[in-house]
Amino acid sequence: MINYQNLWSRTLEILGKKYSEDTFNEVFGESKKVLKFLNGSIYVQVPSTYIQTKLQTVYKFAINDALKSLTNEQIKFKFILEDEEKEAETKIIKKDPVRYFENNLNELYNFESFVVGESNMFGYRMAMKVAEQPGEIANPLYIFGGVGLGKTHLMQAIGNYILDKDIKNKILYVQANDFIVDYSKAAQMGNMSAFEEKYNDLDVLLVDDIQMLEIGKKSQQEFFKLFNDLYDKKKQIVITSDCPADQLKGIMDRLTSRFSWGMTVDVKTPTLEQRVNILKRKVQESSKKEISIDVLEFIAKNFVDNIRELEGGLNRVLFYSDIYNIDSITLDKAKDALESLLKTKKQTNSNTNFANILSVVADFYNVTVDDIISNQRNSIYVLPRQICMYILKTKYDLPYKKIGSILGGRDHSTIIFGVNKMIEDIKNDNELKLAIESLIKKVDN
Ligand code: ADP
Ligand code: MG
Repeated sequence: MINYQNLWSRTLEILGKKYSEDTFNEVFGESKKVLKFLNGSIYVQVPSTYIQTKLQTVYKFAINDALKSLTNEQIKFKFILEDEEKEAETKIIKKDPVRYFENNLNELYNFESFVVGESNMFGYRMAMKVAEQPGEIANPLYIFGGVGLGKTHLMQAIGNYILDKDIKNKILYVQANDFIVDYSKAAQMGNMSAFEEKYNDLDVLLVDDIQMLEIGKKSQQEFFKLFNDLYDKKKQIVITSDCPADQLKGIMDRLTSRFSWGMTVDVKTPTLEQRVNILKRKVQESSKKEISIDVLEFIAKNFVDNIRELEGGLNRVLFYSDIYNIDSITLDKAKDALESLLKTKKQTNSNTNFANILSVVADFYNVTVDDIISNQRNSIYVLPRQICMYILKTKYDLPYKKIGSILGGRDHSTIIFGVNKMIEDIKNDNELKLAIESLIKKVDN
């Protein structure tokens, strides 16, 4: 357990050596008291807005440097006035006077740590605008995209930015499934007061992974009410999802249609250059080690479509160099470090791909994956089955035997027959050819 008051006092000692006595006394002399620790921040009380601004701007780097030399913990100092603290307490907290509203925000997800490039430029700019003028520019802001591409980071950056500007804002970050849990609990116990305390009078609501709302029909009704209430009061709502609003399944239309009232942005997979930039940034933030650009490129080339995995790759290399006491990480060492990880990644990738091919084809022909794997000889099953064989052979060049085992343990001669039949049929059937082309495209996505 860290003693936060002590950490601030020691930070002050370091700063005392850095500045003249006069400067030190003027800037830091009346800012000795730590008020509390919350969400990764140590709140220090300051005497005036003048000093507050100075500490947040001119002296920010010196303070952070001093702090970094004392601890490896991800901690920040925040500077607030005594009356800001009091106001926030009376506005929000009834039960627990030493804490602000529990907003669930992770401080590290902020705009400064978000690396911008083509894949997320538009999303980033919109998020910034929303953060600067909440409730006015785009309400709701709807962010969608694949796993690990920065949706949660961007969403929380908005929250952190708004909170930084004014700590009294009542901001709530919640995952859609936690909303369901909160609501069901309240409904079951017949007591809405905890639920209301959490969700009423919000200034900003951030709901992550809205697609999860699918499993809670009653919660959707409740969310609908909450959405309307906030929207009417011009309070900012931000939503993330794994797909565009009109493709959400199992969520009532009157809700999903509202999601496109504001602005929709997407985050795409980053380019190689962006991925390298992200790695550079992470190295700067977290490591004192030198890592050459070819090592970073190697990592970036191997983790293409998920930034969390990209970070995982870097962490593996850093960890490896730590335990083997390696000071300068060469490409060979990085390859060693990542070897097993890349092997399993390759395997799971290919396994999921193949399962995915079957389900894409099955969907297209309105049959099930089980039908494709089954022994039913009706032509409505045979055609999609042979298309799977064809795609697995021509696109992935798998051995016939392997294709046979993916398709429910069929003999390799059956596969050869099926693939050849498709090759012949495509020559004479333009429609079939187009269908297969579009299926291959879908599989790629
Ligand atoms: P998602 O919510 O889309 O699944 P996250 O926001 O959780 O993705 O991002 C996964 C990880 O990648 C997080 O650690 C996040 O900080 C990091 N990350 C994502 N995008 C960026 C970016 N543009 N710059 C820096 N880090 C990023
Ligand atoms: Mg997320």
